Amino acid sequence: MSKIKVGVLGATGTVGQRFITLLQDHPYFEVCEVAASERSSGKTYAEAVAGRWKVSADIPPAVAGMTVKEVEPGLDCRAVFSAMDASVAGPVEEKFAAAGYCVFSNSRNHRLDPDVPLLLPEINAEHVKVIEHQQKSRGWKGFIVTNSNCSTMGLVLPLKPLDVEFGLEAVSVVTMQAISGAGYPGVSALDIVDNVIPYIGGEEGKMEREPLKMLGSLRDGTTFIEAGFKVSAQCNRVFVLDGHLECTSVALRRKPPVEEFTRALAEFRGRPQELKLPSAPERPILVRTEDDRPQPRFDRDHGKGMSVAVGRIRPCSVLDYKFLILSHNTVRGAAGASILNAEFLKAEGYL
Ligand code: NAP
Repeated sequence: MSKIKVGVLGATGTVGQRFITLLQDHPYFEVCEVAASERSSGKTYAEAVAGRWKVSADIPPAVAGMTVKEVEPGLDCRAVFSAMDASVAGPVEEKFAAAGYCVFSNSRNHRLDPDVPLLLPEINAEHVKVIEHQQKSRGWKGFIVTNSNCSTMGLVLPLKPLDVEFGLEAVSVVTMQAISGAGYPGVSALDIVDNVIPYIGGEEGKMEREPLKMLGSLRDGTTFIEAGFKVSAQCNRVFVLDGHLECTSVALRRKPPVEEFTRALAEFRGRPQELKLPSAPERPILVRTEDDRPQPRFDRDHGKGMSVAVGRIRPCSVLDYKFLILSHNTVRGAAGASILNAEFLKAEGYL
């Protein structure tokens, strides 16, 4: 089978570098184009990331010598993964979709558009049906599919089986988010060492809105109906490199025994698992039973960074249950999620 040619927009940044490493030797996709800002374009990829390559694996040799291009249609590929700064991503992604590219975006710009899927195929695979409506109403040959904010991603995976099995009424979440979530160079060491920053601009709003679209339904292939529960989020930046930890409490319509609650999480599987997609972890939710887990350092790489670890499940004296969630913010929360979306759309015949 010949591989589908893909490009990475914003290939030089924190999420872009994850794309480049995760797409190395991918069974479906081959990176043929890399693009970034005018600061990088014209250089080889290796030159453009010199001094700021932050992934422990080496730069794949096939990409190191590629010339970084500008983020303009005309790239020789079928699909693009977008990891551009949100200040520029919106109109650039639209231009690519209009020119016929399949755009898989990590940026916030189009997540809440009424005709764009905010896709996580384990929980809302049926939302891809809005793509036809998007193409028709915008006159595009291509399309845009988005994935959620990194902290939303960790939260919504466990919320799905809880909503299906017991009915979610309310969610309260307090995050401890890794510094890689702020991109590069991101937060200054003088601000974050020996410290916790109790503010991440825009993050709480994203965590309170995005789950409602993701766990809502799509009516007639054209209209998203938001889920009916409420989310309250408080977001903090902590001195951890990768892995967002989220202290979560939920109120449920039916309060199950703890064994049933735990089983619903541990046994959850979605379409990517059924389809055995290359990036799909065998267990999307890994339940840890130790008193002191999950921890970022030990639990962020389960399922190659694509499994979400849940632990410390216990009754809550205000809502019904409380627990911790840990997810890898640049893999499951960004590049890995986007690649899984592309694998799923290929399986569904959109690519
Ligand atoms: P980053 O490290 O700051 O990288 C930003 C990328 O955008 C770089 O490749 C940069 O290219 C490119 N860029 C900046 N200005 C540009 C312009 N005018 N034209 C074209 N390209 C431009 O940021 P990041 O953390 O990788 O985040 C990328 C996107 O993913 C953001 O929208 C972010 O919100 C989202 N996201 C991030 C995470 C995370 O955990 N970090 C998780 C989920 C979603 P140069 O190198 O040439 O400047």
